[in-house]
Amino acid sequence: MNFIESFYPFLSDPHKVVITMHQKPDGDAMGSALGLYHFLQQFGHEVTVISPTNWAGFLNWMPGCKDVLNYETDKQASDKLIANAGWIFCLDFNVLHRTKTMEDTLLNAAATKILIDHHEQPQTEVFDYGISQTGKSSTCEMVYDFIVGSGNKNKINLAIAACLYTGMMTDTGSFRFPNTTASVHLAIAYFKEIGLNHSVIHENIYDTNTENKLHLTGNSILNRLEVFYECNTSLIVIPKSDLFKYHAKTGDTEGLVQYLLSIEGIKFGALVIDRDEERKWSFRSKGDFDVNQFARKHFNGGGHKNAAGGNTKDSLEETVKKFKAVLLDYQSALE
Ligand code: 5GP
Ligand code: MN
Repeated sequence: MNFIESFYPFLSDPHKVVITMHQKPDGDAMGSALGLYHFLQQFGHEVTVISPTNWAGFLNWMPGCKDVLNYETDKQASDKLIANAGWIFCLDFNVLHRTKTMEDTLLNAAATKILIDHHEQPQTEVFDYGISQTGKSSTCEMVYDFIVGSGNKNKINLAIAACLYTGMMTDTGSFRFPNTTASVHLAIAYFKEIGLNHSVIHENIYDTNTENKLHLTGNSILNRLEVFYECNTSLIVIPKSDLFKYHAKTGDTEGLVQYLLSIEGIKFGALVIDRDEERKWSFRSKGDFDVNQFARKHFNGGGHKNAAGGNTKDSLEETVKKFKAVLLDYQSALE
């Protein structure tokens, strides 16, 4: 993988471009993809954003979102765009299997592949150019650096600012996690200088819940929460029947994992959801407990030190049993 700086000279040379991100894109994945989309369009590139799957409805307000293709439902058009692309930007993931059914198509595409990402342990051999910075708050911050680093700060308009602000806000837990550095605040200061209305973005993301989502959240806290005080750990297990009962849509379980760490003294929070094709784990921690390592070692996952995820084909009962058994080995680390 060549340094991203060596890619800058090509920016002014119009190309067919595909931008993609991890499946079930969150605010950072969608924000970075659309931020880059609005930037590249200004050079006359033909740009399409392709998401591997659908996404939460609370991202639909983002400028350009209505033009994003969903690989699962627009497969034919997407395959053609990928086959004809000169460049493919891969944002907010670093191993191709995080794009689910797009994995092989991406691997076999002739295009130059460019990685911009902040997760641990990148699969660098599949990318031609790229940057992987695990200390960065978000991929959105890295797209900001890409734009500024390539000498194009003057191209940041309100659409770009809104998209990049979104991912910086969601990946830092609204600017509270330790990844909220001075450079995050400096970038936001610049967005404010050019006139960004940040409160409307918080409303668009956090004040657009459905009644069903709140009921699912309430039920999860009331009936599905377990606390293991001896390990300073909390767990929420969501069976399929809850998703059905509360008509859960993509994004309705987003934010739930944060409640686990809001209990006093809790250092490790785990959420598992019984999805159709897999049991999906979300892990969060405070302090030194490394959930990226934990997710990698036991649940086929990865991510960051304090926020990671994983998945398994085991049944919900089996995977929860495994979690409880494995947790005992970490009792002293979590004291
Ligand atoms: P979340 O719990 O919000 O789904 O994910 C937390 C973090 O871990 C995100 O940065 C996400 O990209 C990453 N992550 C989630 N699930 C997986 C997974 O199955 N594999 C890997 N490698 N990373 C994951
Ligand atoms: Mn991210």
